[in-house]
Order: sequence, then structure tokens, then C-alpha cells
Amino acid sequence: MKNVIEKYRAEINYFIEVLKQDSNICLDNFYRNLKTLKIYESDAINDSPNADAAYDYKTNKIILTPKSFKLQSFYHELFHMASRTKKNNILYDGFLAINTSNNQEYGRGLNEGYTELLCERYFGTATDYYIERIFLKQIEKILGESLLKEHYFSPRDESIFEELEKYTSDEETSNFFRNLDYYTFVAERDDNKITEADLQELIDNCVLFLYKAYMNKLSQKGEDSDEDKINEYINGFTLAEVEVVPIGTIKIIKSLIDKGLVVIEDTKKYIK
Ligand SMILES: [Zn+2]
Repeated sequence: MKNVIEKYRAEINYFIEVLKQDSNICLDNFYRNLKTLKIYESDAINDSPNADAAYDYKTNKIILTPKSFKLQSFYHELFHMASRTKKNNILYDGFLAINTSNNQEYGRGLNEGYTELLCERYFGTATDYYIERIFLKQIEKILGESLLKEHYFSPRDESIFEELEKYTSDEETSNFFRNLDYYTFVAERDDNKITEADLQELIDNCVLFLYKAYMNKLSQKGEDSDEDKINEYINGFTLAEVEVVPIGTIKIIKSLIDKGLVVIEDTKKYIK
């Protein structure tokens, strides 16, 4: 296949111009990967027929489908490229970590959610990974915006996993990663094999994890009786800015209340 990177040079330059405005973003990996980046055009993306773009982090290649080209998808893949780096025998792509000796990976759900959140923030173009984006906004409230950005663009010694573990346990954090990875895997494939109830349980578990982590964070700071903060956090799970309310959004809040965790006036309007 022919490398058509020059055809997309203007879009790449615009991407750089926008990200350069944010002094918290480290672009070292972006510039290093850009030197060897290849862009190929194809009629379809292998393995994901619904996708119109893809990034192969192993070979640093973006594949685009010219017939259904979407600028937003191209930016999404550029974020993947900008956050790719290797450390010891681990290949990092943002929050996705791949052990190159056995190909095991974790963090895909977290990574796609944050990548799409960045597209939303910097280019106003997010459409995909709705539930993951909600979760990442909630994680941002626990760990802070700048820490997440630092981890994403150039992984630090302490991983994002370890950062979250400070507010929960090792087992709970692994379960959260596993649940979110599985949710993303299923959602990307439109997999009918999973029932709505199972999907709901998966989402509920993620919500409960994030709620607990946030409460522990507040408790560590002595702010756990701040009802405004807690209400705001809970409402963060109920974003309704999309026309089609995705599975889970309303039920999540209902299940939180059913479990006796919170009863807040504002959320009652969501309960049918
Ligand atoms: Zn992606």
C-alpha cells in the first residue's frame, strides 16, 4: 500500500497547532512517532467493518477509508499516535498497556474513553464511546485533569492503575479495568451475545467503583460531608447531552438509589 501522509499534512498541522496551545500536553511522543507514521487508504478496516479509521499501534500506521472519511475519526487516531511509546517490554498507547512478550493488554476501555474525551475538548468532535467518556470525566474528578493528561501522553513510573488503587483496592481496580475493557469490547462489536441485564450489571459495577473511589478521595481530604460535591459527582453519571440516551444512563442512578447509596432530590427527576 502507498503511504499518503502528504495528502493529510494540513490536518496534521492543525492538530499540532491546537495541542501546542496546551502547555500541559507533552508532544515528544507525537513528534517521534510522526517521523515514521504511515497513512494508508483502504475500502474497509479489517476486523472492524463499522469503523472508518484505525490506528495500528504496533506498526504506527493509520488506516483511513476515503469514501467515509471523517475528520473526527482522523483526530481520534492522531491522539492514539501521539500517545504511543515503549518502556521496557511494555508498549503504551495512552492508557492501553500491551505486554509485547505475550500480547496481553489492559486499559482499552479507559484509553478509548479518554481519547474521545480529548477529541471532544480540543476539536468538539466526539461521537463515540459515550459511556466510557462519562466514566473518564468522573475519573478526572478523582485524579485531576493534569495528572490524567501526563499519564496519557507520556506514561510515568506510577501507572494510572496505581493512581486509582490509592482510593480503592488492587482487586477492585483490576475488576474495574476488566469490566470497562469488556464493555468496550462488546459495545464496539455490537455483540448480541450479551444480554441487556448483563451489560447493565457491567456498567453498574463500574459506576459503583467510581463512586466508591471518589468518596474515599473526599474522605482522605476530610471533605466527605460536602453534599454539593457528592451531588455534582452523582449527576456526572447522568449526562444527557446526546439525543439517544444510551443504555444505562437512567438505570444507573436508579440502581445507586436502590442500593441505598444516595438519595438526592435532583436525581429524582431521572427516575421513572
Ligand atoms: Zn480508538
